[in-house]
Amino acid sequence: MSIVEVIKADEVTCAEMNQRDGCQCIRVSFKKNKDRFLNLDTSCSDKNLYENVLKAYNSLIGKIVAVNCWDPEKEPGLYSNSDWFKDMRVLNDDESISAHISAKGFCEVCGIADGLLNYSKGAKGKWLHYSCKFNREGSKKSKSNGCLKQIAVPNILIEVNTNVVFADGSINTVLKLSDGTKKTINIKVFDRNLAITKKAKSLIGEKVKTTCWDPINEPGKWSSLGYFNDIDKII
Ligand SMILES: [Zn+2]
Repeated sequence: MSIVEVIKADEVTCAEMNQRDGCQCIRVSFKKNKDRFLNLDTSCSDKNLYENVLKAYNSLIGKIVAVNCWDPEKEPGLYSNSDWFKDMRVLNDDESISAHISAKGFCEVCGIADGLLNYSKGAKGKWLHYSCKFNREGSKKSKSNGCLKQIAVPNILIEVNTNVVFADGSINTVLKLSDGTKKTINIKVFDRNLAITKKAKSLIGEKVKTTCWDPINEPGKWSSLGYFNDIDKII
C-alpha cells in the first residue's frame, strides 16, 4: 500500500452515513475540497462500530484536517483519485498536540489522529480512543451474549447415546428424555472435549434441563431443531 495525502489542510463541515458502490460509507464534507468517502465495509471489521466511527468523524466538524488515502502499490490512484479516504489527522498549532499525534498515530478503530488517543494495547504500540476501545469491547461482549438462551422443559434423562452419525456426516451425542423427546449436541461444534457428553452421562436417571443458545436475530435456529449446548441437574 502507498499512502497518498489527498487533502493537505481543510475544515471538516459535515460527516454522515452514506452508501457508495454498494458499500456502507462515511461521507465527509469539507469547506474547500469535494466530499471524501471512508469505506466502512473494508476499513472497519465490526459492523457494530459503524455508528461509533461516525461519531468520531462528527467530532471533527469545525476542525482543520489533513486526509490520507491508501492505494495499492501496483495501482496508484485507484482509490485516491476516486474520492475515497482512509484516515484523517487533525492539524493543530499546539505543539503538545502535534507531538501527541506524531507519537501515537491514528486510532486503530476510527482512523482519526486528533491528539486524544489515550489507550494503548501495550506491546504493539497501537493507540486508540478510549471511547473506541470501550465500544469495541462492548460490541464484542454483546456478540458473545448475542444469543437467546432457551431452556427446555425439565425431564428425566433416560439415555445418552454417543457417536451418533447424522446424514450430514456430523458426530453427535443424543439424549433421550422421559417425555420421548430427543436432544442433540454436535460434538465438533459444541463439545470437542466431550465435557458436556460426560456431564450428561453422569446425569442419567436425574431430572435435568437442557439449554440451547440461538442467535438473537434467528430465534429458534438451533433450539427448534432439538439441539442443546448444555445440561444441568434440577435440584
Ligand atoms: Zn477512535
